[in-house]
Amino acid sequence: MFSSFLIKYAEIGVKGKNRYIFENALVQQIKYACKRSEGEFAVRKAEGRIYVDALGEFDFDELVENLQTVFGISGICPMIQVDDDDFDTLSKAVVDYMDKEYPDKNLTFKVFARRSRKTYPMNSMELNAAIGEKVLDAFPEIRVDVHKPDVCLYVEVREKVYIYSRIIPGPGGMPVGTGGKAMLLLSGGIDSPVAGYMISKRGVKIDAVYFHAPPYTSERAKQKVIDLARLVSRYSGPVYLHVINFTDIQLAIYEKCPHDELTIIMRRYMMRIAETIAKETECLGLITGESIGQVASQTMQSLACTNEVCTLPVYRPCIGLDKQEIIDISLKIGTYETSILPYEDCCTIFVAKHPVTKPNIDIIKKHEHHLDDVIEELVQKALDTREKMVVRVDR
Ligand code: ATP
Ligand code: MG
Repeated sequence: MFSSFLIKYAEIGVKGKNRYIFENALVQQIKYACKRSEGEFAVRKAEGRIYVDALGEFDFDELVENLQTVFGISGICPMIQVDDDDFDTLSKAVVDYMDKEYPDKNLTFKVFARRSRKTYPMNSMELNAAIGEKVLDAFPEIRVDVHKPDVCLYVEVREKVYIYSRIIPGPGGMPVGTGGKAMLLLSGGIDSPVAGYMISKRGVKIDAVYFHAPPYTSERAKQKVIDLARLVSRYSGPVYLHVINFTDIQLAIYEKCPHDELTIIMRRYMMRIAETIAKETECLGLITGESIGQVASQTMQSLACTNEVCTLPVYRPCIGLDKQEIIDISLKIGTYETSILPYEDCCTIFVAKHPVTKPNIDIIKKHEHHLDDVIEELVQKALDTREKMVVRVDR
């Protein structure tokens, strides 16, 4: 029954004179989401609001699901449009809407009428009362409750009349593209896709880097990361994924450094390489899925050691979340099922039985000097041989 949607957005409403930049970015992202959906759609901005109109057949659930990936949207309201705004026509349309939308009439409601033209013969108060009366007349079981209604019935008299009552939640956040770009260290785990989602939610475009260690990690492990990047790209838009062959660096560390410090030293090289690529590609920060205390390499001391090699800010949006809270987000955004596929990860293969949990930066740095003869060349080679791909959702 619906062919139009009112798109509600929250935070971008407060951006003063930058508002149009945010609105235009949001319209652009909504257009992309429509393109991924079956059917033809028109997206329009009018009177500080955004509307999506279906121009023919479309799949309601698919469109809503795609709109729910657009950061900046706080609510999606399926609505009825009535061309003629005389009271008789609009009140009939309201009654018809209530009938179809709420087959079970055992409910309370309140009318929220609005008119954008002050020349309309009735003001909002009069509209509220008159529409309410028509609904009550048509359905004896329905009652009015002005304090806690089950149904808030919105009737807006604008260039057309808009009728809606359901607000399907959007993802919130800010439209992608309004907040610069950051480089996500994307592993095959649960945390890093969630971290990418969370930063992207604030309007930031995402590029990603994955450290691959063939033959210790398989092609399937790499494919899993590509799949995760694709799932994140549903929200963030296309992701440029850099795949770094990390094997020789890991082997060198394994050969020359104390085994209880392997993970920390390896993480430091990941950060260094990620930062080099980030700077080349105009990323303004790095993103990781770290969370304090989750594993030995994520204690405060370990994080201090990995952080020390970076000059760009490192964003760790999962830092204060418990594992279960991260899992809940991954379930919500649809990455969990892929993340738990059991393929090996380069960190787990070279991991020591008893890694240091309180690494000392000076000692770590001293041990890193054992790599002096080879590391520069190995890092350069890893950078030169990186594989680059664009990962995006197809229709
Ligand atoms: P995740 O669930 O994201 O894999 P994790 O709990 O396994 O995290 P670690 O393996 O210690 O934690 O990694 C910490 C962070 O380092 C990850 O969240 C990710 O951002 C980054 N990272 C780890 N391994 C890789 C990798 N192979 N490629 C790219 N980034 C990685
Ligand atoms: Mg991991």
